[in-house]
Amino acid sequence: MLPTVNNMPAKPSLRDMPKVDVLLGGAEFAPLVARHGRPLVTEELRAHLDDLRARLRGEAAVGADELAAPAVARACEARLRKLSAPVQCRVINATGTILHTSLGRAPLAPEVAQAAIREAAQYSALELDRDSGKRSDRDKLISGLLQRITGAEAATVVNNNAAATMIILDTMANGREVICSRAHMVEIGGSYRMPDVMRKAGCKLVEVGCTNKTHPRDFENAISDQTAMLLKVHTSNYAIVGFVEEPSLEELVEIGRRRNVPVVYDLGAGSLVDLRRFGVSREPTVQELLKMGADLVCFSGDKLFGGPQAGMIVGRKDLVQRVKKNQLFRMVRCDKVTLSLLEHTLRLYLDPERILEAVPTLRMISRHPDDVRKSAKTVATRLAKAGLKVDLADSQSQIGGGSTPGEFLPTTVVVIRSLGGSPDEAAQRLRVGTPSVFCRIENDALVFDARTLLPGQDAELVEAILAARA
Ligand SMILES: *Cc1c(COP(=O)(O)O)cnc(C)c1O
Repeated sequence: MLPTVNNMPAKPSLRDMPKVDVLLGGAEFAPLVARHGRPLVTEELRAHLDDLRARLRGEAAVGADELAAPAVARACEARLRKLSAPVQCRVINATGTILHTSLGRAPLAPEVAQAAIREAAQYSALELDRDSGKRSDRDKLISGLLQRITGAEAATVVNNNAAATMIILDTMANGREVICSRAHMVEIGGSYRMPDVMRKAGCKLVEVGCTNKTHPRDFENAISDQTAMLLKVHTSNYAIVGFVEEPSLEELVEIGRRRNVPVVYDLGAGSLVDLRRFGVSREPTVQELLKMGADLVCFSGDKLFGGPQAGMIVGRKDLVQRVKKNQLFRMVRCDKVTLSLLEHTLRLYLDPERILEAVPTLRMISRHPDDVRKSAKTVATRLAKAGLKVDLADSQSQIGGGSTPGEFLPTTVVVIRSLGGSPDEAAQRLRVGTPSVFCRIENDALVFDARTLLPGQDAELVEAILAARA
């Protein structure tokens, strides 16, 4: 029999659209409703049907099977999967940049994270003194530990180092002058530029010296009855080399003491451990700077300290007290989870012999090149066993996070020239995998730096790389 027009599969029209209620009540949607709940499934179903309707109205072809319940359910499931995929997923950092700002800077010690999560799920004596039952400061524990570890007279903590700098400037120098070297006009990411921060804090910036050279007398000559502080900013993310000179902190402190002007140091990365023996030469410790007589030092919690995002302020008691009385303090204070993460990280510092192992950031910096090589070898051997062509190569890791520019740590990398498709495509597949992997691309090859792998991630990285083959 010849096919008739009526037997031809009809091109679907708007009248053939399935009904929401019917679909939701059907067998295909039952598992979706059970997993995601009816409201969310309904919303995604409606959105998908809207898309289909728009395509039917337009020129795009819609097959009759696309309107059938199984296809609609599959499409909704894909939408729901996308919706529930975590954006802030776990990442294996094989970039070799230890404090990768885009990857969340410092990874926390596992026991620190666990302790804080346990406490966060319950009430805590955040602003109470348990002994007396009276109201107390939320940073009481942090300030005590910070004082003990850094030798500071007083300490407090705010949301991040940018907030620390801002509140110090606003407290001490609003409406007055801040003297700072032209070599220290730092920008840390587009929205944080030292001269702009000063303007926002109502300070008048008095720039002295030149980009490459500033002398102690430049500071001395600029002091007036309007001067509120001498400010030194650690040039954490750049280095000026060559014909260069700047006053040492001691020289500034000497001038400050003599002329009765406080000296403030925005240290940025702020290490509490001397890292010079690992080749990190440009990071003075907080303890040293306080010993040299800095009146206030501020630094980040999630850079070399290896804790959560926070801004530590340490130094003279009267100045810390004034900072804490500033109206801004409430706006930049830390929440209980951060305080608890800080407390547990600080406790690790009470044992200097174990600190390099205990804080992941310090562990990565202090890892011996032989140990890194061993880990790279493990990864390479397993990948080769699985049939991948891999090489090992000597390379360099960096600390990153806007610290120690131009300084590198020796490392070993696993080099993969092909994982299927272009290196960019392969890197994309690695990024969207579970766990997500970030690596470098160099000379058209994928480069995995073993220095930034956390304990136990060797095997996981192998699995993730094999899963990303195309
Ligand atoms: C990183 C840095 C900051 C900003 O610190 P955050 O904790 O990221 O707010 C400010 N000053 C210097 C010198 C820095 O290196």
